[in-house]
Amino acid sequence: MTGGCDGPSVAAAIRAVAAAIAEQHVELTRLDREIGDGDHGENMNRGFKAVVAKLDADPGMTPGAILKLVAMTLMSTVGGASGPLYGTAFLRAATTVGDAGQLDAGAVGAALAAALGGVQARGKAVPGDKTIVDALVPAVEAAESARGNSVAEVLQAAAAAAQDAVATTIPLVARKGRASYLGERSAGHADPGATSTAVILRALAEAAKA
Ligand code: ADP
Ligand code: MG
Repeated sequence: MTGGCDGPSVAAAIRAVAAAIAEQHVELTRLDREIGDGDHGENMNRGFKAVVAKLDADPGMTPGAILKLVAMTLMSTVGGASGPLYGTAFLRAATTVGDAGQLDAGAVGAALAAALGGVQARGKAVPGDKTIVDALVPAVEAAESARGNSVAEVLQAAAAAAQDAVATTIPLVARKGRASYLGERSAGHADPGATSTAVILRALAEAAKA
């Protein structure tokens, strides 16, 4: 993404996310079977497949329009707890980038921070609750520290932090969502939503590098 992060490159990055979710959906569902109802991978895969179908129908969108389309599609197709949460994340990101034709590293960092704000506004989770927030908080912090570098470096930093955070969710007892019904028995397993956040950020970082 040497020429900046324009609409077509954001669309390509979202397609890369859809491909990564498709590749990881069995694992995401396996994780959700341990501490939830075993549908997280299917939910996310259904949502991102629907996103790709809509991207195909309109190739001329701005970055913000693409993020908004992702938000609306995830809200209407993913279901579960994660659909509205990821939907809100992408919607806040879309609002933050506005109608800019190109996103620089600062805009990407601001979009990530807005996404975290959306997830927390919607789901009221705090770090340590064993949720998406446990991956997004360190990702946003790492992106902030990498500010001033390229879009690819900002996303790389965020993705690496989210990936590291997945392991930190293993010993946690879930305090939000279905996994919280298990109480102490939710400890000993990685959180599915934190894991899908790491998958999404890794795919975005790889796409930004390409
Ligand atoms: P459901 O739990 O309704 O079946 P999914 O399986 O698609 O939905 O998603 C489960 C994931 O959603 C969990 O692993 C967790 O990361 C995330 N999650 C649940 N509740 C919250 C919340 N309040 N805030 C942030 N993330 C949450
Ligand atoms: Mg589930």
